[in-house]
This record gives sequence, C-alpha cells and structure tokens, in this order.
Amino acid sequence: MQLTDRKKVVVKKEMSFMEKLYLPAILNGMSITIKHLFKRSSTIKYPEQKREIAEVYRGQHVLKRDENGAERCTACGLCAVACPAEAITMRSEERRQGEENLYREEKYAATYEINMLRCIFCGLCEEACPKEAIFLTDRIVPTEFKRNEFIYGKDKLVEPVGQPVDVTCRQTKEVLSFKKDKTKYHNQTFKDQQLLEGSQNH
Ligand code: SF4
Ligand code: SF4
Repeated sequence: MQLTDRKKVVVKKEMSFMEKLYLPAILNGMSITIKHLFKRSSTIKYPEQKREIAEVYRGQHVLKRDENGAERCTACGLCAVACPAEAITMRSEERRQGEENLYREEKYAATYEINMLRCIFCGLCEEACPKEAIFLTDRIVPTEFKRNEFIYGKDKLVEPVGQPVDVTCRQTKEVLSFKKDKTKYHNQTFKDQQLLEGSQNH
C-alpha cells in the first residue's frame, strides 16, 4: 500500500568546484540558523516557565480520601481493566477491625501502582472508577533518570491526610450533587452506615 505520493529521484552527480568548497552550503545553513534566532520560539524553558494548560488537563493521578480521611479505593480493579495501556496493578486486602478510619470500604488496595511510562493519560481509569477514588490532575509527571522511578505507588498517588487535591473541575455538577446524597450506599461512610443501622434498630 502506498502511503505517500511524494517522490524524490536521487541522482549521484559529480560535485562542482563550489560544492567541493562547502562554503556556500555552510553560509546557507548559517543564514537559516540566524533567521530562526529572530523567530518566536515555540518551545518554553520548563520548569522555570510554565505553559497555560486547560482546566481539565489530564496529568498525574491522585487517589482520593473521603471527607473523614479514609482511602476511597476498594481495589475492585475496574480501573486496571479499563486501562488500555495496562499501566495499573494492585493487590487487595481485607480491612481489619479498627481500620475503618483508614479505608472506606471493606476491601482496600494494599499496593496500588501506576507505571507512568506506560500511561497515556486517557482518563479511562477515572471514568471506570465506581468509588470516585481516582482522578487525573493538572500536575505534570516530573522527569526522572531511572525507569523504575516512574512506577508510582501509593506513597505518590494517595493524597496526603488533611491536604485534599482539588478535583472539582473534573466532576460534573450531577456527580457532585450525587456524591452528597447519603441515601445512596455508594456515598455512605462507615460512620454513616453505623448511624443508619442504629436508627433502624431503634
Ligand atoms: S490514564 Fe489511561 S493509560 Fe493512564 S492509567 Fe488511566 S486508564 Fe491507564
Ligand atoms: S481506583 Fe476505583 S476503579 Fe480502581 S481499584 Fe480503586 S475503586 Fe476500583
């Protein structure tokens, strides 16, 4: 199958005296370089200079905590299944008694890793997540010198306690109002469930 109709016939001809001097070719090259010096550069000096990015830019992921600081992820694996780059791996564990303040659901991700070299920042993991646990943010993944430094574990992905990463620009109004609806099991924390059970038993 022909991919292009551009053709250039290569002819091996003797070099002229001027061509053998290389001077005209050097001058021609220099003039092109000098012309570019006065053109507006399309590159920027990152990280000193930062390019303006869209509000919904898809950069480094965050694993969210709920309003009580418990990790939202339940290690269901849907994000890993949805990921076209097979960049996500995880290992689940069952929540033990007394860990309700650490993990929102009965099962949690003991390890959760994203290979940032594989990730294509498509956002499908975010769309697949039923627990509003993973979001892409406007943070740019920094450069590293070693490949294994691009494997991001929970230490880099889970948001720090008390320092929530704002992801509201990545959620629609409908999702935000749905998340406030405590009648939905999806939105109930362990405390909410205990309160509900208590009120039903009385
Ligand atoms: S953004 Fe896309 S490629 Fe990256 S981890 Fe999520 S689903 Fe995979
Ligand atoms: S981030 Fe969401 S989709 Fe992925 S394992 Fe956790 S709860 Fe499931």
